[in-house]
Amino acid sequence: MNDCIFCKIINGDIPSIKVYEDEQVYAFMDITPLSKGHTLLIPKQHVQDLLDMPAELASHLYRVAPIVAKAIYNAFTPDGMNTLNNNGAAAGQTVFHYHLHFIPRYGEEGLKWVWE
Ligand code: C5P
Repeated sequence: MNDCIFCKIINGDIPSIKVYEDEQVYAFMDITPLSKGHTLLIPKQHVQDLLDMPAELASHLYRVAPIVAKAIYNAFTPDGMNTLNNNGAAAGQTVFHYHLHFIPRYGEEGLKWVWE
């Protein structure tokens, strides 16, 4: 997809800080982190949201998710972590290429809702 910002990140046209990569998925640090270590995991194939994602790709992406989570725990030692994804503008999706957020939480700050 020519105008997709995450496709451009995957292609290397826009720089990113890589956390994980294999043939099917890519994880990188969010450019405007909600907390230290905020990371996004995306499929390399352009799919708009969870409803658009083939089951095999979803299966692979969620197999990788604990690997990404552990890397973030090792690097940033948070107290907890939110993993979430927004589907559709009404749900807060702003980039229409599926992405799973990993939002590390620290101390009492971790008790607050992420989008406040
Ligand atoms: O779930 P939502 O679509 O709102 O999240 C998009 C995320 O993509 C935001 O957290 C934003 O900071 C991130 N982003 C990014 N690099 C870009 C554009 C957006 O990390 N170039």
